[in-house]
Order: sequence, then C-alpha cells, then structure tokens
Amino acid sequence: LSSKIAVSACLLGGNCRYNGKNNYNEEIEHLLKDKEVYKICPEVLTGLSIPRKPVEIKDNKVITQDNEDMTEIFLHGVDMAWEKLKDKNIDLAILKANSPTCGSKTIYDGTFSHTLVEGNGLFAKLLKDNKIMVISEKDIE
Ligand code: SF4
Repeated sequence: LSSKIAVSACLLGGNCRYNGKNNYNEEIEHLLKDKEVYKICPEVLTGLSIPRKPVEIKDNKVITQDNEDMTEIFLHGVDMAWEKLKDKNIDLAILKANSPTCGSKTIYDGTFSHTLVEGNGLFAKLLKDNKIMVISEKDIE
C-alpha cells in the first residue's frame, strides 16, 4: 500500500454522511496504521449540514430527490478538498463506494431507486483526472 493516502472521513468513523451516520470500516483503519492519512469529506468541507438531503447525479448534475440542483455547492466542496490535498503527494485514495462525491466505479443513477450505473462521484473523478489511484472499501474487502 502507498504511504500517503486520502480517505473518505466516513470510512474512518466520521459521522458525516447525509444521514448523520458513518461507514466505519475496521479493516481499512487497520491497513492504514503507520501510513500518512488524510481524512476528508468534501460535502462537509463545503458547508453542507449533517444531516442533509441525499443527492444523486443525473445528466452530470447533482440533484436532490425534489430536483433541487446542488451541483455548484458540491463542486465547490470537491475543489476545497483538492486545495487541501494537491501538495501532499498523495498516491492513493480510498473513497466510499457509490457516493455521488466519493464513488469511484459506480454511482446511483439519479432516480433515487437504489439503481447503480457505471460512473464516478465528483471527488473521485477529480482525483483520477489528477492521476491519483482511487479505490473503495469494496476493493479492499
Ligand atoms: Fe463519506 Fe465522501 Fe459522503 Fe463525505 S462525501 S460522507 S467522505 S462518502
């Protein structure tokens, strides 16, 4: 495993999910012992509340179930996260699967029906565009 790793804060027990819960993963915490870890949650960084409305990505927009367009504030969070990370020489990110921000293989399709489609969340995409390898907790399990 690389030595400098960005990790979705919710995977390390941060209660930053839209529903106020976390996705704590003991195996990841164990793997990250002795690594330089950068815990990050772009959605909280941008000032979104906990809890908050769930969102999904549809037609490249971030929308709530009642069709509120949240794209701008989500993009802002991703930019803020990148500002914090870009000089850290991170070579790997472990990000929460399926999230509209952190998902790195599949994301929900924007119909709020638990349907996954191929695609990246906004943060995963930005990291990949900057040549950082992104995996999820599912790749580790
Ligand atoms: Fe977790 Fe990422 Fe969602 Fe924050 S934005 S709660 S780190 S999946």
